[in-house]
Amino acid sequence: MSSEKTLTRRTLLKSAVFVAPAGVIGCTTLSPDGEPLVQATDPVARAVGYFANTGDVPADHPLAATHSVEQKCANCIHGRGSAGPGRIECPTFPGRSVSEDGWCSIWAPLI
Ligand code: SF4
Repeated sequence: MSSEKTLTRRTLLKSAVFVAPAGVIGCTTLSPDGEPLVQATDPVARAVGYFANTGDVPADHPLAATHSVEQKCANCIHGRGSAGPGRIECPTFPGRSVSEDGWCSIWAPLI
């Protein structure tokens, strides 16, 4: 009985030794210079109509009725400062970053 607990604890410790570095490597791969950049395929990005470049927003996009090319993440009230070169943090995408030139349908002007 006791040896089973020891074996289980030992097995977990061995697993942690191998899994922890893999997690660190994975994070490094995803975000070499900050939080990972939101991709167009991201479900939240799709839901809010996020584009990495405000100039790519189609005029007939259903979520872009009030869009103009002057609107971008860099001048959105929801932007939270630099997340790396050309990137900013946005609470819409926790743990990820958006392009300074990006845009989504919840853009609002700085006041
Ligand atoms: S809320 Fe603002 S900063 Fe965030 S993705 Fe949309 S436009 Fe960019």
